[in-house]
Amino acid sequence: MPDSDCLFCKILSGDISADVIYESDAAIAFRDINPRAPTHVLIIPRQHISTINDIEAEHEAIVGSLFSSAKTIAAQEGLADDGYRVVMNCNKAAGQTVFHLHLHLLGGRIMGWPPG
Ligand code: AMP
Ligand code: ZN
Repeated sequence: MPDSDCLFCKILSGDISADVIYESDAAIAFRDINPRAPTHVLIIPRQHISTINDIEAEHEAIVGSLFSSAKTIAAQEGLADDGYRVVMNCNKAAGQTVFHLHLHLLGGRIMGWPPG
């Protein structure tokens, strides 16, 4: 069920516009409004799941599709050979600000390790 207070559900419904670059049955991806790398894409499930803590067994195929979407988008963006990073923040300590599951795909620069 969409959450009427959720920014990413509003992007899914078209109420808020976004630069959508990829769509599948289970997920969509759009460019982050505040990019932290030359390529910064957010990959979100069509189903509203708030955080990693809310993932249930029934969501495994959806969560898996976020990663296969990342592979496709990375190739599309020309990042596959050089490499890229995928990140999913969970709750406050990790810096999650939008409570609709999303995978960040970052690339086009050298990434530091460990993340700050
Ligand atoms: P997180 O901090 O992991 O919850 O990531 C949320 C991300 O959503 C941040 O990188 C924001 O820049 C991004 N963001 C917030 N609002 C929008 C929007 N309207 N369109 C695209 N990205 C957004
Ligand atoms: Zn949502």
